[in-house]
Amino acid sequence: MKKLQLLIQKILLEVQILQIRLAILLFKQKRTVPNLDAPTKIIIHHGGGWLSFKGVNAYHKSLWGFKSSLGYYAGYTIFIERDGTDIQARADNEEGAHTKGFNKRTIGIGVMGNGVDRDFTFEQYKKLLKRIYEKMVKYNIPKSEIYGHRDFSPNICPSDYLYNWMLKYKGR
Ligand SMILES: [Zn+2]
Repeated sequence: MKKLQLLIQKILLEVQILQIRLAILLFKQKRTVPNLDAPTKIIIHHGGGWLSFKGVNAYHKSLWGFKSSLGYYAGYTIFIERDGTDIQARADNEEGAHTKGFNKRTIGIGVMGNGVDRDFTFEQYKKLLKRIYEKMVKYNIPKSEIYGHRDFSPNICPSDYLYNWMLKYKGR
């Protein structure tokens, strides 16, 4: 019995070592992979400026250079353009780069525009609602686990327009 326990411990240790080796390898190659458990939160962002996805992707490439399993560098899980077109930049169960300290097991949705000078478009709200609803159903995420970036760090993201929209949605 004791022998079996030792053997199990040894195997578990070897698995841990392999996991660490894989993490180091991915870090060296600057890649992220869809290796996390299902997401538990949705975090909403504004783009901040007026960059479209192409611009955001190039900017995030220059910042961190981490390539996702879907071939993009943008740190959001999903990005929504002004016309409501959206791009999935990282898999739902892949580490993101959108909210410091909360990039694992969260879906980060970036919406183009800053929401300060001008509100977001009807098409953007429509797509945002669609994606939020889809992910809530798919991963059993309650409305209470939908947040704005500002809930996790002191900044204006996702702007008053989007944040108030989100509060209204959560209250419905
Ligand atoms: Zn943000």
